[in-house]
Amino acid sequence: MKTFDPSTHRAKKRFGQNFLHDMGIIDRIVHSIRVQPEDNIIEIGPGLGAITKQLLVITKSINVIELDRDIIPKLKFNCDGLGELNIMQTDALKVDYRQFAEKGPLRVVGNLPYNISTPILFHLFKYLDQIKDMHFMLQKEVVLRMAAKPGSKVYGRLSVMTQSVCDTQMLFLVPPESFTPAPKVESAIVYLAPRKEKLDIKDPGLFSAIVTEAFNQRRKTLRNVWKNRIDTDSLEKLAINPTLRPEKISLEEFVKVSNYLSDAGAFSGR
Ligand code: SAH
Repeated sequence: MKTFDPSTHRAKKRFGQNFLHDMGIIDRIVHSIRVQPEDNIIEIGPGLGAITKQLLVITKSINVIELDRDIIPKLKFNCDGLGELNIMQTDALKVDYRQFAEKGPLRVVGNLPYNISTPILFHLFKYLDQIKDMHFMLQKEVVLRMAAKPGSKVYGRLSVMTQSVCDTQMLFLVPPESFTPAPKVESAIVYLAPRKEKLDIKDPGLFSAIVTEAFNQRRKTLRNVWKNRIDTDSLEKLAINPTLRPEKISLEEFVKVSNYLSDAGAFSGR
């Protein structure tokens, strides 16, 4: 396998470049993905190919999306001879992921630039019908928020919105020293797959609105948070205690409130 000295590429901060160099971690990521030769993999932000190379050895063909034009010759050099590398030089936030789905459900992989991790997640959630699963390296705090359960300090909008569409699991932590340059924060690998038990959310726009409203005022009680939406009696009829704070409310309870409002003719405003 050819190698390329990452020191010849000056990491660009604006592209959130932190290159993985720890082979133990790279192996662990690839192992967690349980890549099969027939898998339809899309990698976001391949960089110099640390993960790409290992995936390509197995699948012999891979689609990658990379924004940094200058890094592409180096990526090609590093992956040379390993298989078919289809490079899309663009912003992963603007990609229509349906275009890749012809070869079967997508398995999305990426050591994502931390500055755009939440927007990329929400963008990908629009394509879940085409997606089999996703494995991402993200800032540890973001992964903890995504996977948090009610009652946890970090349970919030990201937890509810993520878990409303995906089974979510933090797999393992990755220390800063595994990257060049080392980021200031710890990282973690998260696994996401479209929920096996689908939720019946009647109006996703309304659901998103009430969840956002709730966590924008997380110190208030539900009665106050939603005072213009639903009265105390109705909350009680739904078996939801109006004196609780949003951080105690389960995903299923948010769905209950949202569907109640939607049945009552509330409008999401979308
Ligand atoms: N996967 C590599 C690189 C990770 S650094 C590794 O693990 O070593 C993040 C990568 O995402 C960089 O290559 C950066 O150029 C790329 N990137 C940053 N913003 C992007 C965007 N909006 N769309 C696609 N790629 C992006």
